[in-house]
Parts: sequence; C-alpha cells; structure tokens
Amino acid sequence: MYVAARVDEEKCNGCRLCVYACPDPNVIAVIQLKKVVAIDQKRCKGCGLCATVCPKGALAVS
Ligand code: SF4
Ligand code: SF4
Repeated sequence: MYVAARVDEEKCNGCRLCVYACPDPNVIAVIQLKKVVAIDQKRCKGCGLCATVCPKGALAVS
C-alpha cells in the first residue's frame, strides 16, 4: 500500500517543479488563484519524486 503525496499550502509557492518531476501527467495541478498545487490523491502513486525536487519542502509522502 502506498501513501499519496500531500501538499503544505503554507510552504508551496506554485513554482511547478513538482509538476515537471511527476512521471504521471496531470496528477499534480497548479491552482492558479492560490499559487499552490493540488495532488490527485486517487492517481498519485506515492513515488516521492515530487518531494525530492521541491525547494520549499512543501511535499510529503509519509
Ligand atoms: S515544487 Fe514545491 S513549491 Fe514548487 S509548486 Fe511543487 S510543492 Fe509548490
Ligand atoms: S508522489 Fe510521485 S506520483 Fe505522486 S504526485 Fe509525487 S511524483 Fe507524482
């Protein structure tokens, strides 16, 4: 069983690095108005790649 990634909206600045790092298209989406990302909890595989590239430490998979 895997754990889907979670976003700390207080830390995320919407830079999109995690969007480019995610191997699956459209799992991470930028909410333009809030300048934060949202993760599709049903499709995220919990691989953790997004968390490794986030410069703000805004993503966690455990
Ligand atoms: S890499 Fe981090 S700061 Fe940048 S959009 Fe993703 S979660 Fe937000
Ligand atoms: S944990 Fe993996 S599948 Fe899930 S959003 Fe991050 S990079 Fe994409």
